[in-house]
Amino acid sequence: MPRALTPAPAPPNMPRAMPKHALQKQKPARAFRLPHPQPVDALEYARFTGIPTFMRLPHITQPEELDIAIIGVPFDGGTTYRPGPRFGPRQVRVQSAIIRPWNPVLNVNPFEKYRIADFGDLSVNPLSIEDTFRRIEQGLAPILAAGARTACVGGDHSISLPILRAIAKKHGGPVNLIQFDAHSDLWDEYFGSKYSHGTPFRRAFEEGLLRDGGVLQVGLRGQVYGEDDFDFARAHKVRVVTAEQFHEKGMPEVQRHLQAFKSKPVYVTLDIDSVDPAYAPGTGTPQIGGFTSIQILQLIRALEGLNIIGCDVVEVSPPYDTGELTSLLAANLLYELLCVL
Ligand code: MN
Ligand code: MN
Repeated sequence: MPRALTPAPAPPNMPRAMPKHALQKQKPARAFRLPHPQPVDALEYARFTGIPTFMRLPHITQPEELDIAIIGVPFDGGTTYRPGPRFGPRQVRVQSAIIRPWNPVLNVNPFEKYRIADFGDLSVNPLSIEDTFRRIEQGLAPILAAGARTACVGGDHSISLPILRAIAKKHGGPVNLIQFDAHSDLWDEYFGSKYSHGTPFRRAFEEGLLRDGGVLQVGLRGQVYGEDDFDFARAHKVRVVTAEQFHEKGMPEVQRHLQAFKSKPVYVTLDIDSVDPAYAPGTGTPQIGGFTSIQILQLIRALEGLNIIGCDVVEVSPPYDTGELTSLLAANLLYELLCVL
């Protein structure tokens, strides 16, 4: 930290005092000891300064102080093609420095509405997917037990399985899922392994973490191995809006399915490859024909009003990114998710 002649207006990445009008919105049920966490004000401390945290929020590791914990999960041992999402959380932190607090479309400042902070990264084992899954589930358990919701930043899509294990345990049974993805991730195995970024939601169904008819997948496209690739989804009544259907019928087709999730607890998972590689090139298994930036923004904003119990943003691979396009998009989509949580 450079020494200034005049005192810095606010130390970066430290809890700051909360405005009075925001204080009044606090739920009385939980007692907090720390001041309401706020992003560092870019009008007082320039965006490119300080230690990067998600949205320039304070780094707080006490879940009892939070409504929403943003958590990095830097694991890419489940990738099958291009690696790299282990660097996702760090790069999304850097790009999130440009996020401003007020959302003029949804009319919300999520950082005033909720106590949100950068919880830090979970400890992963880069050499073992099974051990990493244990670490993720065990790492999330105390956060969920403290009453905070989690917004995880991957990492490849395999991390959603241990996240759902923790979420389902917290909620006492299977949950509903909305998945934005170019791929169903319902495959059975790859090179004999049951765990990869192509299999998390099949395992989740098998483990009783998801309910039949309670999963909506939006953005599926591209080639598969054969027509029978869709059998598992049909058997479990998975709702699907393919990219082709979205491009033909638009938002009403998605809205129609979202009606089925009203007032039900639903987990949201956002694979950045749901977006077209022209907008999000830095990802592991790119598929052409995806959403534009504005389309994925509209899709996330359409979730407003749902009972969202947690979310993740996965598959950002900085080594394959161009001009930080993908991590910048992911940082903005993470912000939009905070606005609908
Ligand atoms: Mn995926
Ligand atoms: Mn995908």
